[in-house]
Formats: sequence, C-alpha cells, structure tokens
Amino acid sequence: MMASAASAAPSGRGLLIDGKAVAARIRERVAEGVRSLAAKGVVPGLSVILVGDDPASAVYVRNKAKCCEEVGMRGETIRMRANTTQDELLAVIDRLNASTQVHGILVQMPLPKQIDPQVVLRRVDPAKDVDGFHPVNVGKVLIGDADAFAPCTPSGVMVLLREYKVSTSGAHVVVLGRSNIVGKPMAALLVQHSADATVTVCHSRTKDLAEHTRRADILIAAVGKAGLVTADMVRPGAVVIDVGMNRLDDPSTAKGYRLVGDVDFDAVRSVARLITPVPGGVGPMTIAMLVQNTLISAQRFAEKARA
Ligand code: NAP
Repeated sequence: MMASAASAAPSGRGLLIDGKAVAARIRERVAEGVRSLAAKGVVPGLSVILVGDDPASAVYVRNKAKCCEEVGMRGETIRMRANTTQDELLAVIDRLNASTQVHGILVQMPLPKQIDPQVVLRRVDPAKDVDGFHPVNVGKVLIGDADAFAPCTPSGVMVLLREYKVSTSGAHVVVLGRSNIVGKPMAALLVQHSADATVTVCHSRTKDLAEHTRRADILIAAVGKAGLVTADMVRPGAVVIDVGMNRLDDPSTAKGYRLVGDVDFDAVRSVARLITPVPGGVGPMTIAMLVQNTLISAQRFAEKARA
C-alpha cells in the first residue's frame, strides 16, 4: 500500500484546502436559490433551538443565524432556559414541524441532562431535519438514498474532496472517530457506490492507531484531541482532513484561547499532499451545508405545495 517516495513525496509543504473559499461559493449559490424561491413567494426558514447557555453552543448558533441572514433566509433562534423540560422542548419542535414558514429545524447539542437527545432528534420532522440526525435520514444515508439529508460536517468534507479533485474511488480512507455526528456518517458516505472508498474507522479502543493511519491515502481526524495526529502517523503524500476543533488556552490572544484541530498542523503539512487548516478548513463548510440543506428542504416543500 505504501506509495513510492517518487510518486508521493511532497515538496515539504502540503497545499492548503481552503474551506473558507469553497464555503463562500456554496453560500453564493444558496443565496441565488433563495432569491429565485423568494420570487415565487417562498422564503426558506431555518429555526435553531438553543437550550441553556453553553458558551461554545452560543457561538455556533450566532454563526448559523448570521449565515442565514447573509443568504437571505429567515433565520430564527429560539433560546430556552437551562432548566427547560423535555416536554417543553418537544412542544416547541411540534410547533415548528407544523409551521409552513419553517423548512429546517436544528436543535443545538449538547442538551441539558434532563433532556434525552435521542427523543428530541426523533421528534423533528425528517423532512425538516436539515442536520441529518433523525434515524430516517441516518438510514437513508446508509442505504445511499439520494433523498437523505446527510449530516453537514461529513457532507462538507465530501464537497472539499470533490472540489480539490481528490478521488476517493479505491482510496483507503481512515476515519478517526465514530460519533453519530461525524465519524459514522463520514464512513457511510465514503463507502457508497458514489464514492467507492475502502474505509477504516478507528476509535479510542483501536490498537496501534498509527499502524492504521500510516496506511491512509486520505486521513480524516474527528476526535477532539489537539495534536493527536503527528507527522510520523501520516503517509507521505496523503490527504489530511482535520475536523477537530479544540480550544487551547492562549493568554496572548484577545479571546484568551485559540482554535486548533486534531492534527499537529505544521509538522503534518510537511508530509501531506493536501491538508485542511483549523480554522478555515472543515468548519466553514458545516454551516454552508446547513443552509444548502435548508434551501433544498424549502424547494421540496414548495414543489409539494404546487403539486
Ligand atoms: P465525539 O462525539 O467526542 O467523538 C470523538 C470520537 O473520537 C469517539 O468516537 C472516540 O472514540 C474517538 N477517540 C477519542 N480518543 C481517541 C483516540 N485517542 N484515538 C482514536 N479515537 C479516539 O466528538 P465529535 O462530535 O465526533 O467531534 C470530534 C471533533 O470534531 C471535536 O473536536 C469537535 O469539536 C469537532 N467537530 C467539528 C465540526 C466542524 O464543523 N468543524 C463539527 C462537528 C465536530 P470512542 O467512541 O471509543 O469514545
């Protein structure tokens, strides 16, 4: 499996995959779609529910609202107190499911302890589940149903690979992490006939992690541990996608912290052929895919209403 040094040796600095630029192009296309739908009297609407006051969640929700505004969608943030009961939250979801103005519903995770996230995710109408977490959409992704809303982060990774002409067909892709949000759907998308990758999924119980990662043509890290992937774990010439988003204390910055991925960026860049930075790689893609899914949902509802 090891590629020869001649065929794969990088120049010493892998090219950056510019997720910010790709995401901006997607948002522009979404904005065009929103304008054309609005001309027919339908303004796509995304409702985001934030329960409690987790600071990181508040930032994500703010960014989503900002993006909705930018593409001309109706973005609504519903803020609920930390001691909200499960029934109260389900009642809000029922209302949004029934609203003709709402085409996408997102419940920001994590939820407070008194609420079961699985019950909540199952309550969202699968047709409005633009996050792709309802079991109906999870199943559709697995069977390769084109109708599915696939989770935004792994979908964004697929788009980045396509944009940078990284062929997944026959490639050995190693995914680090098996969460329902990133790792598992990432593997499900890669293994479809449309992608044709050979996929290895690693997790915290995997033995000899580096043995696996060194065999990857494409390495996707979604763990949540800063610096986990070091240069010696990466095959020269591999493509490295860093989904991780970790806050490291840094008193020299205005915020007191900086964001880093799971990959030891500078060292791995010297080995990789292509690499995503953090921030500016996968992160911007997630929100772009979210508004894209919301537009698709609104288009489907509009078509159904016309039929
Ligand atoms: P998660 O639910 O905590 O899952 C982490 C996964 O990593 C688990 O499957 C865990 O294994 C595995 N793991 C932990 N330590 C490991 C190790 N030493 N070696 C190999 N695998 C290990 O996290 P997540 O929600 O998938 O998110 C992962 C990272 O991506 C986080 O940094 C998160 O902030 C980031 N993220 C970014 C975006 C974005 O838009 N860029 C979106 C979502 C998430 P077990 O299953 O065995 O515990």
